[in-house]
Amino acid sequence: MWSFRAWRRRRILARQPITPPTWAEVRRRLPLLDGLSDSEEQRLRERAVLFLHGKHLSARPGVELDAIDCLTLAAQAELPLLHLAELDWYQGFHEIVLYPDDFVSPQRHRDASGVVHEWDAAHSGEAWQQGPVILAWPGVQASGGWDGYNLVIHELAHKLDMLNGDANGLPPLHRSMRISDWASTMQSAYDAMNARLDADPHADSVIDAYAAENPAEFFAVTSEYFFSAPDLLVEAFPAVYAQLALFYRQDPLTRLQRLQRLQATHPDYRATSKDSQHTTNG
Ligand SMILES: [Zn+2]
Repeated sequence: MWSFRAWRRRRILARQPITPPTWAEVRRRLPLLDGLSDSEEQRLRERAVLFLHGKHLSARPGVELDAIDCLTLAAQAELPLLHLAELDWYQGFHEIVLYPDDFVSPQRHRDASGVVHEWDAAHSGEAWQQGPVILAWPGVQASGGWDGYNLVIHELAHKLDMLNGDANGLPPLHRSMRISDWASTMQSAYDAMNARLDADPHADSVIDAYAAENPAEFFAVTSEYFFSAPDLLVEAFPAVYAQLALFYRQDPLTRLQRLQRLQATHPDYRATSKDSQHTTNG
C-alpha cells in the first residue's frame, strides 16, 4: 500500500544523504553506539536525519555548529527511540536551544505546607513542558561515551516523561507493562537511594546522587545510565534496569558486555569511555 508518510521520509533521506566520512566521524564521537547491529545503526542514521529535518537547532552566540555536530546530537536523541519509532514521541516540540555554557534559571518549588521557594540554579539542560529543550553545548560535547553521563538522553527522557502530563517519573507505559510494577520498582529504588543519602550525604553512590532529587530526575538519570552505563545501573538497581528495558525495548547491557569481551580479546580495540565533566543536568 502506498504511504504518504513513507514516501515523505524517503524523499527527505534522499535529499540529505550522509557521506560515509561524515558518519564515520559521528560514530567516532559516540562510543555508546558501539555494539548496535548494522540494521539498527542504519535505522539510527536515518532517524538522525529525520530528527534534524523536524527540529530547529538554535545556537546561541558562542556556539558554532557544523553538520557533524548536529548529527552527533541527533543520533543520541534518537537512540532511546530506536525501537519505539512509530510512536512519534518527539513530535510535541520543535526546537533545541544550545547555550555556550551552563545557564542560570529561576527555580520554583512549592513545599508540602504550601510555601513557595524560589532560587536561581545553574543547569546544563532543561526540558520545558510546552516548549524547547535547552542544552549547554559543553554538556552535549561531554556526552556520547559509556560513562553514565548523557545530557541529551537526560533531557529527552524528561520530554518522554512529560508526554502524559507533568514530569513525575511516570512516562506513558506500553500496554504490556504494568503501572503498579513500574511505580513500586521506581519508588523503592528512589526511597533506598534517599535513605542512604539521608544517613550520609557524602555516601559513595554508584548512580549520580542527583537522581535522588525527585522522581522525575530519578527517571532521567537512570535513563542516562541505562544507555551509557548499564552495568552500573544493573549493579545498583537491577529491577529498575528491567523496567527501563521494557520501556525502551532495548538491552544496552548486552551491547556493552559484548564490547567488553571484544576489548578483553583485542587489547587494541579502542577505549569505549570518554572523558566527561559531570554537571547538574536540570
Ligand atoms: Zn533533569
